[in-house]
Amino acid sequence: MQPLDLNQLIELDRRHLWHPYAPMPNTGPVFPVRSAQGVHIQLETGEQLIDGMASWWTCIHGYNHPRLNQAAHAQIERMSHVMFGGLTHQSAVQLAQKLVQLTPDPLQHVFFCDSGSVAVEVAMKMAIQYWHSRGQPHKQNFLTFRRGYHGDTFAAMSVCDPVTGMHHLFRSSLVDQYFVESPRIPFAGEWQDEAMTAFETLLAEHGDNIAAAIFEPVVQGAGGMWFYHPNYVRRARELCDRYGVLLILDEIATGFGRTGRMFACDYAGICPDILCVGKALTGGFMSLAATLTTAHISQTFAQGEAGVFMHGPTFMANPLACAVALENLDLLASYDWRSRVSAIADQLKSGLEPCRDLPAVKDVRVLGAIGVVELHEPVDMAVVQPQFVAQGVWLRPFGRLVYTMPPYITQPEQVAAIARAIHTVIAQMR
Ligand SMILES: *Cc1c(COP(=O)(O)O)cnc(C)c1O
Repeated sequence: MQPLDLNQLIELDRRHLWHPYAPMPNTGPVFPVRSAQGVHIQLETGEQLIDGMASWWTCIHGYNHPRLNQAAHAQIERMSHVMFGGLTHQSAVQLAQKLVQLTPDPLQHVFFCDSGSVAVEVAMKMAIQYWHSRGQPHKQNFLTFRRGYHGDTFAAMSVCDPVTGMHHLFRSSLVDQYFVESPRIPFAGEWQDEAMTAFETLLAEHGDNIAAAIFEPVVQGAGGMWFYHPNYVRRARELCDRYGVLLILDEIATGFGRTGRMFACDYAGICPDILCVGKALTGGFMSLAATLTTAHISQTFAQGEAGVFMHGPTFMANPLACAVALENLDLLASYDWRSRVSAIADQLKSGLEPCRDLPAVKDVRVLGAIGVVELHEPVDMAVVQPQFVAQGVWLRPFGRLVYTMPPYITQPEQVAAIARAIHTVIAQMR
């Protein structure tokens, strides 16, 4: 492969490539990356940036980690892929065993797939097929919170926020789901039981049609970067049981320590019937996701019309991805990540606090290694993105949210640099 020169690279990118949620042809700035190492992204233009995004929650141990590279090389020597129909392998079995150990006890059965959106599709299909197998085929709908984000495929999109997910655009292709308001009581706010009224009323009125409640526990990610009271999760668990509805928790963003607990549902001390994980699973090395469920649920499928769960991706349990994920989880277990995450939380709190005094700022909040500055007005990406690059950090705000979730290995002075850049750029806004 002959490398392209910088102008060709950008020119051809603009001519042929879609970027996430970007216009085509892409008119916004795009920054070519040469390599990445530790917490740094090296641009083709020579700048070195501290990555404040961990490549969208994934790269918790930094880039080009020797242990992840070594695990990948060792797996490539054996095989990078083999079909999973009728075959199995060391990496998938050991990774499944590890996930079962890390997650709450009742979750015993692991379904591997390629991306978070598909893990959500799988979870929703599991819930529907569970009720179908139990003679309740009318339970096909889902209850969820507004401002949620669960992925971009059709079933996942149907439980994303209806406004930001532009549901009206896809109206006749999307299932109408049941929405309740996004939880309003903040993470450390004062709990009031009335907060569950809308949730309970919906279950009481429509429980017969609802297969499961699905939401992101404690942290609503891409839908609003909002941290809410863990009692919502605890009470939702009780209400789901009372009204005969399954509980699916989407921990694709929050899983593996990001919030300060291994899983965000640990704050509520409850276990879902179905759990989705992804993003940080391979430490940002490559795409892999999983849907975990209880023995009770998976055993029910045998009594149903299909007899088996009706899903099976071509690249299911890809050995290369599983080997890297296994090493990544070993790496996570090898040091005191809780202290690291809590140190980053403290640094983000003190570093972002001065933003509160800026006129453009509405709110500043931190939970675990996630820092959020909410603005009154949406940012102009074409303006702020190059400003952050000029400050030596990589951040990717959206809408009214400037936020950071750096790798756990980010050092104090690097967290301080991220916070300083956020303050500097916001201070320049009119
Ligand atoms: C990112 C994300 C997804 C979708 O994952 P993809 O790998 O992008 O398909 C689903 N749910 C949550 C909470 C996410 O943050």
